Parts: sequence; structure tokens; C-alpha cells
Amino acid sequence: MTRGFEEIDGELAVGGVPVSRLAARVGSTPFFAYDRRLLTERVALLRRHLPADLQLSYAIKANPMPAVVQHMSGLVDSFDVASSIEMGVALDTTMPSNRISFAGPGKTDAELRQAVAAGVTIELESENEAARVARIGSELSIRPRVAVRVNPDFSVKGSGMRMGGGPQQFGVDAERVPALLKELASTDLDVLGFHCFAGSQNLKADIIAEAQRRTVELLLRLAEDAVAPVRYLNLGGGFGIPYTEKDVALDLEVIGENLATLMRDEVRPRLPETRVVTELGRFLVGEAGVYVTRVVDRKESRGKTYLVVDGGLHHQLAASGNFGQVIRRNYPIAVANRIDREPAEQVTVVGCLCTPLDLLGDNVTLPEAGVGDLVVLYQAGAYGLTASPTAFLSHPAPAEVLL
Ligand SMILES: *Cc1c(COP(=O)(O)O)cnc(C)c1O
Repeated sequence: MTRGFEEIDGELAVGGVPVSRLAARVGSTPFFAYDRRLLTERVALLRRHLPADLQLSYAIKANPMPAVVQHMSGLVDSFDVASSIEMGVALDTTMPSNRISFAGPGKTDAELRQAVAAGVTIELESENEAARVARIGSELSIRPRVAVRVNPDFSVKGSGMRMGGGPQQFGVDAERVPALLKELASTDLDVLGFHCFAGSQNLKADIIAEAQRRTVELLLRLAEDAVAPVRYLNLGGGFGIPYTEKDVALDLEVIGENLATLMRDEVRPRLPETRVVTELGRFLVGEAGVYVTRVVDRKESRGKTYLVVDGGLHHQLAASGNFGQVIRRNYPIAVANRIDREPAEQVTVVGCLCTPLDLLGDNVTLPEAGVGDLVVLYQAGAYGLTASPTAFLSHPAPAEVLL
């Protein structure tokens, strides 16, 4: 099983390069390798399912490697960033600044200043943030582009992480938005529209469809109170990818049909010109990357065989089950330089950190492998390196390559 990657000469290959040769080229293990072809194909797959007048935004916190972001800039319509460094990465690409939005709580005055100067759209997370942006705009004599991030009056079940509904640090509560809009009318902010992002890593198409329907209803209702024409509606996303054997891939047919209906029947009759966006991170990049490690030790302990690799949770925290998971389940794993071999034995793959949490494959069945072999974890294209505690135990940082 190569999960979309190629097999060349009995090895897993990324971008046409067999993994042992790639390891030699990178010069050291562990490393992350991302495949351009898979990124391109993923965007094309989505475009085939989404209505033509719905735009696609890449939330770059899922994978902010500059080369990946540059590649994505030619494929998607816009970027969402969550820090000033991400904003810098996005601005270095060919994406126009008016197609970059900046979301996230706790934006500092310094970050807001940079965003206003760059002409990036600031997704307002609170009334206080709105006031600070207005002040910064007048200091710089620039009219800031903003949208109101709305904390919905509903929550989405089945999300790996819930980020909307109930009390939240994200966005302005829906019922407070009309009053905020009134206040904004007396400031010199260019209020483009609304943003709603209610959760992440959802694999249930019918629940996502329902959330999108409620999001559209909510944002159209709020649009009635807008003082300026609504030019931007961001419906969020939250599309998940399968990580474990139990997970079933998202049904894009259901989501695509639902969005087409919503656009045709609800959005377009009322807002014919508005730029409507769905914003995705993990779904676009997660399956396009592998984390490549090398076996440094093989040992037996009281009836159990361990493969000890040179990587670990300090680079790929999610695969160890410690990134918010309630129950630890194995991520897909393979002996990459023997990808054509049949599974032969049950082993436990652990990382090199001195903690029992550093477990990468618990009782997994793999072809026989020993010191020097390359073990890869799939589904490593999103929330890998930058979502892991790289300083923990002070090992060197891994390389990242895009092929
Ligand atoms: C994290 C985040 C995303 C991306 O979420 P995924 O689950 O990776 O698709 C999109 N929008 C906002 C506002 C976010 O914070």
C-alpha cells in the first residue's frame, strides 16, 4: 500500500525518487518529504466536486514550508495565515495580498500593524481587536481590510477539534455581531464580510453539510445588518482525512452537492457578487507527505520485538497519539525501502526519545526490518513538524523536502 505515492524498484518513491536515494540526497534522517503531484491532484479533486463559484483557500498553518506554500499559491484562490511569520511566507509567494486573510486570537498590535500595511484582510476575533485595528489604520493612514469572524450559535459534532459554538476565544459571538457592525460603521474600517470556522478534522460528510447549511443561514442573516455591501463570505471547512484503520475517507460527493445547492438557492439570489470561500488546511496537504525515519536499533524484550528509529514524537507528535487524541491508534506505517515485501512479523516501532509516549507503531505487522531500514509514517503532510515539540530532548531538527 503506497497510499498514492509511487513504487519504484521495490521502494516507496516521493516525486519519482526512491526513498533510499532520497535519504542519501537529503543527507540525514529523519526528514519530511512532500509530493507536488499529490498536492496538485488533491486540489484538482476538490475543484471537481466544489461548485465553480466557490473559492478555495489554503490555511497555511497545516504546512507552512515556504516551497509548499509557493506551490499552493498557483493552485488555490487565497491563503489564510495565523501569525506574522506565516503572513511573511504567504506574502513572498505570487498570491496577491488582498487574497490573504489573517485569523487567530491574540494578534498583537505589531502583527496587526504589519497586516494593515500589507493590505491583508484581518479576521476580527473580538470587539477589542476591531478597535485596535481601527486605531492602527488611522496611525498608518491606511484603510484596513477586515472581516468579522463569527462564533456561531451552534456547534459541529464529530470534529477532532471544536472551534465554534458555546463560549470561545475564537470570533465574536453571533448575537453580538449586529452591535459590533453598528460600531464599525463609525470607524474607517473596510468591512468586507464574515468568516466562520467551527472545527477541524471532521470525516462525516452529512455533519459537515449540515454545518455549512447553518453557517450560510447565519452569515446571510448577519449580512442583513451589514452597513457596507458584503464582498466576502468565508464558510470555513474542517474536512478531515483518514488517519487510522477505523477512519473512512470523507464523501466529497455529499459535500459538493450540498454546497452547490446552498450557492444556487441561498447565497447567489441574495449576494450575487460576493466572493465565497471554503478554507482548508489538512485536507489539502495532509496526505501528500511522509515522515521518513531510519531504524537504529532492533531489540527483543520479554517476547516483544522493538524497532527503534531515529525520529519520534518531537517531529511527528500526532502519530504518537499525543496531539489531542482521546484514544491512541496507529497511523499508517511502512518499511519504505521494502515496500514490495509481504508483512511478516509483529513489531512495535518507537522513537528515540526517552519517554514511553514516543510510540509510533504499537504492535504493527510489517515486513522484516532491521538496522538501516527506512520506516515511514504516512499522513504526515499536515500538522507534522510545526505541530510538534521539536526542542523536546534537544535532537536536531529534521529536514523538509518538496519533490
Ligand atoms: C486551523 C484553521 C484552519 C484549517 O483547519 P484544517 O482542519 O487544517 O482544515 C482553517 N481556518 C482557520 C481559521 C483555522 O484556524
